[in-house]
Amino acid sequence: MKKYIFITLSLLSFSIIAQKNYTWQQHVNYTMDIEMNVENYQFDGKQKLIYTNNSPDDLQFIFYHLQFNAFQPGSEMDIRLQNIVDPDGRMVNNMGTKENPIYESRISKLKPNEIGFQKILSLKQNGKPVNYEIMGTILKVTLNTPILSGNKATFEMEFKGQVPIQIRRSGRNNKEGVALSMAQWYPKMAEYDEEGWHANAYIAREFYGVWGDFDVTIHIDKNYTVGGTGYLQNPQEVGHGYEDTSKKLKIPKGEKLTWHFKAPKVHDFTWAADKDYLHDIKQVPNGATMHFLYKNKPKTVENWKKMEDEAIKTMIFYNDYIGEYPYKQYSIIQGGDGGMEYGMCTLINGDGRYSSIVGTMKHEMAHSWFQFVLASNEIKHAWMDEGFTSYISTIARHEMKEEKDDTFIFDRTYKTYNYLATSGKEEPLTTQADRYDTNMAYSIGSYVKGQIFLSQLGYIIGEKNLEKTIKKYYNDFKFKHPTPNDIKRTAEKVSGIQLDWYLNEWIETIHTIDYAVKSVDDKEISLARVGQMPMPIDLTVTYTDGTVENFYIPLQMMLGKKPTSAKALNNWSWGNPTYTFLASKSVKKVEIDSSLLMADIDRSNNIFEVK
Ligand SMILES: [Zn+2]
Repeated sequence: MKKYIFITLSLLSFSIIAQKNYTWQQHVNYTMDIEMNVENYQFDGKQKLIYTNNSPDDLQFIFYHLQFNAFQPGSEMDIRLQNIVDPDGRMVNNMGTKENPIYESRISKLKPNEIGFQKILSLKQNGKPVNYEIMGTILKVTLNTPILSGNKATFEMEFKGQVPIQIRRSGRNNKEGVALSMAQWYPKMAEYDEEGWHANAYIAREFYGVWGDFDVTIHIDKNYTVGGTGYLQNPQEVGHGYEDTSKKLKIPKGEKLTWHFKAPKVHDFTWAADKDYLHDIKQVPNGATMHFLYKNKPKTVENWKKMEDEAIKTMIFYNDYIGEYPYKQYSIIQGGDGGMEYGMCTLINGDGRYSSIVGTMKHEMAHSWFQFVLASNEIKHAWMDEGFTSYISTIARHEMKEEKDDTFIFDRTYKTYNYLATSGKEEPLTTQADRYDTNMAYSIGSYVKGQIFLSQLGYIIGEKNLEKTIKKYYNDFKFKHPTPNDIKRTAEKVSGIQLDWYLNEWIETIHTIDYAVKSVDDKEISLARVGQMPMPIDLTVTYTDGTVENFYIPLQMMLGKKPTSAKALNNWSWGNPTYTFLASKSVKKVEIDSSLLMADIDRSNNIFEVK
């Protein structure tokens, strides 16, 4: 998801902690046939789901997500919107003033023909009807016979859906006039892993799914161009820019076209369709084919044409910086509301300023590596997705600039974190994504504090080690749903530095960092840890003779040191609030962390000058 509010707000390890053991993972195999009615926005669906229980447990029941049901008056999403102090501006109407807002939930105003729904018409387990119960956006199925460990079951479902007026992410007829943004649109099996079921209600965010193979057939009005997840199997039968122009088109007669997609090894399937889409195709050298689908409006066409080469360069950058994008295609599609990442595609707003479209494209594309291929549980660990995505896209924006300046590239990031940390509203990043008191605490926490988790990790283990960590993390955990301990263990293995304290303090608490230069007396320098969170210290000392010397004070509990050209001093243990050492010459000025990468919330005491 695009960080929406900030546009306006602007070696070997000595650890004995065992690595998460991926001995099993559930598997889904979906075959779906969808009959879309573009007049009333309803669709009839047939779904055959072969579910493989690779867990050591026998399952007595299973859960599906029915996310379209969130877009109904009285839904949990609606009621939450009416009660949160800072609702998402896209989901409410402000009936008051900017200063004294009175919000009205847009969901509460939806008429029966405008709501979203997924109605289950029939459901069978291995050919026999099975009992189920719908609780909001969750369908609970009590199985006729348990799915024993290591066994498969086939579920056949008939369902009817209605696409809601676009409120958030998915829906019809969004502000930019895109007819169908089809995200979270089908009954989707919830993930079951070593932690148990993750059948979370759809309240605001976000998603976690089961890896598997999708075979999706969509029958839709022949004038609509479709884009989304997967590889189109019958391009000569649909045309719309997908065809091999050296071969003859074989378009069947009739009012509808049949679009047949296959998507292997994905945990979601998303699509969008519009009558006015233009469709361009570009090839990443030795990489994926990129599809661009956007509305035929002069300014939009100009911006999107200009964005295409930038998108290719961005994918090359991520392939190089993180690891290979594993799929054969990626589609950038105008749709949605802002930007949202999906399998092999993104839906982004497309009518705005060029810089905004490109910024969103870079952010959403980076999600392909984190949200989609690594696929951490975003509901529990949103910071591992939004934070890491934001970090990589910040780096990409900087590295791809033609003219670089020396401004601190994370300047706004650290300032925004500082705002949260001193607001009294911060909550630990272990909070479930929907349960933060405010959207502000969720957003700044996961996007910004999550981003600083990596930039600050570079300060702790060294920049080169951070780059190695990101590559190793991706390579070791792709398609495995990594957890917070996995990124920590990867950084420990790469750097030889113990990092349990870092994960704990930065993610599981709201402790803040504040170090101060307490005093300078000729050659003697005294430092103090004012904040609760300990850190290693980089120190720049200017002597009275004008020379400069850099020092490095490792934090004792790291039980190791980062590679640095600075002179390493004795460790500073957490239990000691102060630290004193003797420099070689008379000192004029001392500065803590001139890199600015340590998120010190009060920098006024970081520099000390002898008067
Ligand atoms: Zn995002």
